[in-house]
Amino acid sequence: MTHRSTHQQPAVSPVTDVPSALPPVDAQVLAETQRAVVGWYRAHARDLPWRESAATAWSILVCEVMSQQTPVVRVLPRWEAWMARWPRPSDLAAAPASEVLLAWDSLGYPRRALRLQETARAIAELHGDSVPDSEAALRALPGVGDYTAAAVTSFAHGQRTAVLDVNVRRVLARSLAGLEHRPSSVSRRERAWAEALVPAEDHVEWNAGLMELGALVCTSRSPSCEQCPLAQHCVWLAAGRPAHPTAARRTQAWAGTDRQLRGAIMRCLREASAAEQEGVPVRLLTAPLTELTDDEAEALAALPAPVHSAVMAVRNLDAGGERTARLVADLLSDGLAQRTDAALHLPH
Ligand code: SF4
Repeated sequence: MTHRSTHQQPAVSPVTDVPSALPPVDAQVLAETQRAVVGWYRAHARDLPWRESAATAWSILVCEVMSQQTPVVRVLPRWEAWMARWPRPSDLAAAPASEVLLAWDSLGYPRRALRLQETARAIAELHGDSVPDSEAALRALPGVGDYTAAAVTSFAHGQRTAVLDVNVRRVLARSLAGLEHRPSSVSRRERAWAEALVPAEDHVEWNAGLMELGALVCTSRSPSCEQCPLAQHCVWLAAGRPAHPTAARRTQAWAGTDRQLRGAIMRCLREASAAEQEGVPVRLLTAPLTELTDDEAEALAALPAPVHSAVMAVRNLDAGGERTARLVADLLSDGLAQRTDAALHLPH
């Protein structure tokens, strides 16, 4: 068992929180914190297949991409199916895009699936089907950012680096800087501060342990300080857990968002593909029911049940169809869908 947990990529918010207030950390406190994190991880980490010693660098890279903004419980079955089907980058590189999007299923942000396929192609063509072991080479791959490059370097290749996802950053900010911390882009200063905290030994478990602590104990909204191995020295806890000064937390409601509707449209295309339909006529998604011709109304009623239900979910989210039409255009330009005549379908 080695590493990781659910993590989220940094979301957008002001960059005024951590960077200017990062304090030096007392050497003894740091040493005790490092021991506490690694010890806790060894005793409490969840048993996950990508943490096993047999996990390949490719499987860890896939896991990291899938886990961005998606909980472990949803990632696990898709990751297992994905790795059984495409165990090497070259396997994924050769797959039809429609199959890749189908296998991505409802993990969300489906552009990640197509980017992962681009990554696979680059690894197959430029690196002999082996995931590179340097952060610089990883960052040069399409779709691989700072976080993923650091995570693969640490978890797959065992090299010393700081893996900074939102969970890790929150635990460090609270316990060692006394800041509640809110997601923002990682500054050079924060990165340098975090890198200086990484122990010389057991650095993989340090990264994985911080990530797991942030996912399971020091959660964003309800940290379980009474169960936390860092409580003794936690600066934020000692200060009475003060709220961050820069106002209310920004949370993006899911209901009613374009993301929700995009997800519903993608579900239609997956269901149509699974039902071996040609695709879904765009007007069945976008035209108000009263404007459907008799033939269209008949076609809507005749859709296989899962496709019908997915189409109706889209219509329920956008009865006028205008937002759906705009998002269909976005999906086409993003390469997540194709249009043949009047029907929308997954890309071939
Ligand atoms: S003591 Fe509480 S706030 Fe501090 S790191 Fe632990 S869970 Fe987070």
